[in-house]
Amino acid sequence: MAGTKTPQISIIGSLNIDFVTTTPRCPAPGETLTATSLSVSAGGKGGNQAVACGRSSFTSKSTQDVSVSMIGAVGAEDPYYDSLLKPALENSGVNTTAIEKSKTQTGSASIIVEEINGENRILFVPGANHAGMMTGVAPILSALENAQPDVVVLQGEIPRSTTIGLLEHFNAGDKAQVVFNPAPVFPDGIPLSALQRTGVLIMNETEVVQMTEFIGNSIEGELVPEKAAQAFHDRAGVEIVLITLGAQGVYYSTRSGKRGLVPGVKVAKVLDTTAAGDTFVGYFATAVARLLATGKSLEAFDDVQVAVEKANAAAAMCVQRQGAMQSIPFAYDL
Ligand code: ADP
Repeated sequence: MAGTKTPQISIIGSLNIDFVTTTPRCPAPGETLTATSLSVSAGGKGGNQAVACGRSSFTSKSTQDVSVSMIGAVGAEDPYYDSLLKPALENSGVNTTAIEKSKTQTGSASIIVEEINGENRILFVPGANHAGMMTGVAPILSALENAQPDVVVLQGEIPRSTTIGLLEHFNAGDKAQVVFNPAPVFPDGIPLSALQRTGVLIMNETEVVQMTEFIGNSIEGELVPEKAAQAFHDRAGVEIVLITLGAQGVYYSTRSGKRGLVPGVKVAKVLDTTAAGDTFVGYFATAVARLLATGKSLEAFDDVQVAVEKANAAAAMCVQRQGAMQSIPFAYDL
């Protein structure tokens, strides 16, 4: 991590096709309801976060100051990668050369968005995300060989064993910092040993409650972000804990004692909250990569609040737009 190198981020995660149905309300069990619209678009938490990293690094339309690459897998025999995922990633400045073409179909998410409040419900079919290269740590590390990332971004849509192996690998070494967004949280959790020394842990309100169980600090009653974050510092040695609180904003906490609530940006109308969390993760990961590429460590992240504020503003812009990937703003739009 020498002086003036270009910051590098590798996102290891899911690539999906999103089938998004917009409806006035969700149907009751057994009910058939006429919805408003269906759109088919590129998504997946890994893909969304890669696009968010890419777009957050465009300081102008022609200047990208961070190198972003995606490690993932898609179906070779369906048309979705070439027609939707590849253009979406590449038009956002994401390198796609390490994406594996698998015999298994491209992962998919069937998403229902309720018009009344923009809330979403999601059904995920893993497909290629849980096949081939994505089932082992060694093939992923070899796909990463040429990237030499400062930051590795992980979520919960690839196999649990792979995720644990990658956490153990990167958290034990000093090559890359991990930005881990345990979304969705694996039902069997993540062992405390794999979480040890994680650089950045980003969770929403649901995820933080689930994750505290796995570090032996279950939350009884209402979530107190300060307490939850401290438990991750104390028990798992996590350097930076970020808890996203929807319209309330983001609580941040560092092991060195910087903490606070950055309030949510007041928006005129929430259209669709899909990818708001992914936007936040991508923008924050980019800020971390920029810091590390200057040779500073995560412990010396003096501008952590500024980075949270910027990611929070980007996520607020995302909720005012329809869709997943296409709703993630470019930095020069903020
Ligand atoms: P997720 O999308 O993962 O469920 P949240 O709902 O916590 O996560 O949203 C992530 C971030 O998106 C929030 O921390 C905030 O920055 C932004 N956000 C979400 N909903 C709103 C909203 N209604 N108004 C403004 N910002 C929002």
